[in-house]
Amino acid sequence: MAASTHAVTNQPPPLTAYDVFGTDPVLVEGVERHLDAEQARRAARELTELGRAAGSAQAREWGRLAQAQPPVLRTHDRFGHRIDEVEFAPAWHRLLGKGVGAGLTSAGGGPGGRLRRAAAFLVWSQVEPGHLDPLSTTYAAVPALRARPDLAELWEPRLTSAVYESGLRPVSGKAGALLGLGLTEKQGGGEDPEAVTTRAEPVAGGAGTHRLTGHKWFCSAPMSDGFLVVARAAEGPTCFLVPRVLDDGTRNVFALQRLKDTLGHRANATAEVEFDGTWAHRIGDEGRAVATLRETVAAARLDRALGAAALMRQAVAQAVHHCTYRTASGVPLAGQPLMRNVLADLALESEAATTLVLRLAAAHDRADAGDERERALLRLAVPAAKYWLTKRCTPLVAEALECLGGNGYVEDSGLPALLRAAPAGALREGPGNVQALEALRVLQQDPAALDAFLLEAGRSRGADHRLDAAVRALLTELGDLDGVQARARRLVERIALVLQGSLLVRYAPPDVADAFCAARLGGDGGAAFGTLPHHAALAEIVERARPVA
Ligand SMILES: Cc1cc2nc3c(=O)[nH]c(=O)nc-3n(C[C@H](O)[C@H](O)[C@H](O)COP(=O)(O)OP(=O)(O)OC[C@H]3O[C@@H](n4cnc5c(N)ncnc54)[C@H](O)[C@@H]3O)c2cc1C
Repeated sequence: MAASTHAVTNQPPPLTAYDVFGTDPVLVEGVERHLDAEQARRAARELTELGRAAGSAQAREWGRLAQAQPPVLRTHDRFGHRIDEVEFAPAWHRLLGKGVGAGLTSAGGGPGGRLRRAAAFLVWSQVEPGHLDPLSTTYAAVPALRARPDLAELWEPRLTSAVYESGLRPVSGKAGALLGLGLTEKQGGGEDPEAVTTRAEPVAGGAGTHRLTGHKWFCSAPMSDGFLVVARAAEGPTCFLVPRVLDDGTRNVFALQRLKDTLGHRANATAEVEFDGTWAHRIGDEGRAVATLRETVAAARLDRALGAAALMRQAVAQAVHHCTYRTASGVPLAGQPLMRNVLADLALESEAATTLVLRLAAAHDRADAGDERERALLRLAVPAAKYWLTKRCTPLVAEALECLGGNGYVEDSGLPALLRAAPAGALREGPGNVQALEALRVLQQDPAALDAFLLEAGRSRGADHRLDAAVRALLTELGDLDGVQARARRLVERIALVLQGSLLVRYAPPDVADAFCAARLGGDGGAAFGTLPHHAALAEIVERARPVA
């Protein structure tokens, strides 16, 4: 007999059946800002549909199931033949199908395509972050692949297709395909191709075909149709395309040793792989892996910044929703002055992150159309944004989790999954120091990138004295390069903050820009969230972040 000892009270309703896009004014305004009227109308229609799907109980359940039923490695079939497959939950395939269908593997080819994709990425990542990984690497791999027009002709239409087709078959027979990246080895190589030891031997008369021998220590989404891999050829580290299945239908040698037991990343799989005479097509010139992969790495880094912005937005949405309904001493938490400060501070961080990544996606569109100044801006702003957003993401999600009290620590709330996912974004495509050093390299060697950044920051000159002072202080720091490596994080943090401040001053409601400039640039805030100046427009900032139509 069921015991009925109490009524359930003071618990919020679930945050489902809402439009993840339409209830986020930062995102809606960003799309309108960067697209022309017709493009914005079309994008809003598509994003509203995706936003409703992302906020539906169905999608939330797919996300939960994909994490609750982790992938399983199947190295051999019942007869002992190697098959090297990974079995994913049905929910994983549904999530991927929807993500591919929403165009997350393709820039769309037209004006504004990067911005539209970035907005869709921000929306759909909020369902479950792990499955965005193969969508992101597939999207990012395309520029590298174009170094081999014959291979691009076969692969690109499938990588950018809106059709998701799971299962290992020759790619020529598939309507859609996914690509992963295999760079990192045990001794290194994730960021430094010179450290790669996997060997590539040319096949006689093979027109760029090689055999690889070696290993990869991290290889995510191992059921992808192919991988861009770095291996050492006669002239040095070189990029290769390794298909999982050969043209004649036989399996390429791609021995999955084990799946890693990671902190989070539960829906996705990350494998260790051995190559032993593995067939590979050379992409780009021998010894030129860095150059071949430059655009791919930049696109993947911007996606990591997008992923961090999406995690932050979802955490803030959950926290504000909970605190709207949960009361303490009869007053909603969101109405308690101290909690209001916490929520406003989190909302500010999330708004600054979303505004920055959308600006960079728009810069990517303009760079595609030939705008060299925007391309230069990206060279500095992408590592800076990747550095700062992924650095802010983990503490923000942890604080948002605390807003839910003990409920936040329980899986059902969804916050633990966000917290587990957050640090992975910081590690992938180069951890914090690597991003900071890359930004430093650009500052030292690429005057056009610094000029483009200063032009962008200068667009709001005179609008806020704290922003103006921060730009002056940054220029002073840049003028003195003594001990510059040890200062790289400080410099890059300030570059990101100045960019965010400049964008918010131009585009956000004045209350938001004022609080940001005070706390993040003017020193009127603490190291923890919830330390905005008490006279800031806390209630208005929280209201703007509330995920209700
Ligand atoms: C969940 C997950 C999935 C992954 N999936 C893939 C995948 O699919 N494909 C793939 O290729 N890789 C993958 N990786 C690997 C990831 O890209 C690397 O772990 C990452 O690039 C860092 O490389 P590393 O582990 O060799 O660390 P290292 O390069 O050894 O770095 C260790 C630390 O040293 C710092 N550091 C490095 N150089 C310097 C320097 N010069 N000065 C100061 N500090 C420095 C770094 O910032 C870092 O903090 C995955 C990792 C994770 C966690």
